[in-house]
Amino acid sequence: MSIAQNPLFRQQAYLDGQWIAADSGQSINVDNPATGAILGQVPKMGTAETRRAVEAAQRALPAWRALTAKERSAKLRRWFELILQHQEHLAQLMTLEQGKPLVESRGEIAYAASFIEWFAEEAKRIYGDTIPAHQADKRILVIKQPIGVTAAITPWNFPSAMITRKAGPALAAGCTMIIKPASQTPFSALALMVLAEEAGIPAGVLNVITGSASEIGAELSTNPKVRKLSFTGSTEIGAKLLEQSAPQIKKVSLELGGNAPFIVFDDANLDEAVKGALSSKYRNAGQTCVCVNRIYVQDAVYEAFAEKFQAAVAKLRVGDGLDPNTEIGPLIDERAVAKVQEHIADALAQGARLVCGGHPHAKGSRYFEPTLLVDVPDSARVAREETFGPLAPLFRFHTEEEVIEKANATEFGLASYFYARDLGRVFRVSEALEYGMVGINTGLISTEVAPFGGIKSSGLGREGSKYGIEDYLELKYLCLGL
Ligand code: ADP
Repeated sequence: MSIAQNPLFRQQAYLDGQWIAADSGQSINVDNPATGAILGQVPKMGTAETRRAVEAAQRALPAWRALTAKERSAKLRRWFELILQHQEHLAQLMTLEQGKPLVESRGEIAYAASFIEWFAEEAKRIYGDTIPAHQADKRILVIKQPIGVTAAITPWNFPSAMITRKAGPALAAGCTMIIKPASQTPFSALALMVLAEEAGIPAGVLNVITGSASEIGAELSTNPKVRKLSFTGSTEIGAKLLEQSAPQIKKVSLELGGNAPFIVFDDANLDEAVKGALSSKYRNAGQTCVCVNRIYVQDAVYEAFAEKFQAAVAKLRVGDGLDPNTEIGPLIDERAVAKVQEHIADALAQGARLVCGGHPHAKGSRYFEPTLLVDVPDSARVAREETFGPLAPLFRFHTEEEVIEKANATEFGLASYFYARDLGRVFRVSEALEYGMVGINTGLISTEVAPFGGIKSSGLGREGSKYGIEDYLELKYLCLGL
């Protein structure tokens, strides 16, 4: 199916229920990372259009907030069903603009839809509280109310799920939202709006603005009508948005970078550990914020693990995401390829050994070979910085205390993983890891039912699960004198 035949393909932004161009008439190109071909254009919008979107979201708020939870839930449920009905259309668009293999795109659409389903259900369970009063003639109640107009700025690595993980709880709670998708992957966001409209979500409740990240981001973080901003992306931009939001004490949720350790203890099931490391490292060509960045293997099993892992990495098939045989697609751009190369060169210069891959892939300028480095020293850049590409570095360790110290020696604290069987060790290590999420004997932790988020420089707040809706609610305490 060509992109032009895709019924969900739109090249306009979605503001107040209208499909519109930029005031300036200017647009930006979106390309296919697999081929470099231009797929289409989206409007290059800025401050003025963003301000109008905020006003539209403000106008839509009273009626949306006033619906019963069940009414909002029904519309979200319909949106969820439409997303699944159009899973193939959405997946095709995603692979074209993002590059990930089609099987991963289909998986992401199911994952994206799951947040809408989950929060359609949670909408009906926003319970308040009654508290035994401090005086005989008083009664105390706590109610939860929607925060109001909210905004989301989302990245290119999960073009659909990072939107629904924010829009789902926002709409369920009774908030309205303005979304700024990444400029590399706006078509997935716009396609979701086609389906939201069809699901009966009223004009102004959801808006997608495309264009200048710095202008749109500045307006969303400084406009006083926006009461909450949720961002997923780099720590650098997250810190900037937090700073811009500070003068108004605007509520901010941040889901930022990670530097995930993956620890293999000597009592681990090595075949399972290899499987876990492979899926967590190389999913989306290493471009997820929960991707393994550092693999620590204990002395006694180091050689055995390295051998099995190398055999598995060498088999990974690189290619265009539309090819059903592809397991590793292109990276998002040439800059991403350059970063992988820098991390490899730095590790090799410090004594690491290359045992698999290590070079740009013959398929083209955005492709890189799945790479494995062994005997990487702790001083290598890859020990401190997120690679965001298909490079796995192996580090050796001796004791539990030593590896915990190494695993925690980073300013990040998003995902972590370890493989072990000893029950005492499982509890000790789980509690000692300074991370928001710990995968134990598994490399896959993402699900709509569990709280996703990081500590330290990896973020603020949690998304998904029963906790995820709290970020879109305010508590109000009522003190009633009898
Ligand atoms: P990545 O390195 O994953 O591209 P970024 O943090 O640069 O992460 O981008 C994530 C999102 O933040 C994208 O939607 C991008 O357009 C947006 N963004 C980039 N720069 C800014 C900025 N100065 N203000 C607001 N948003 C920004």
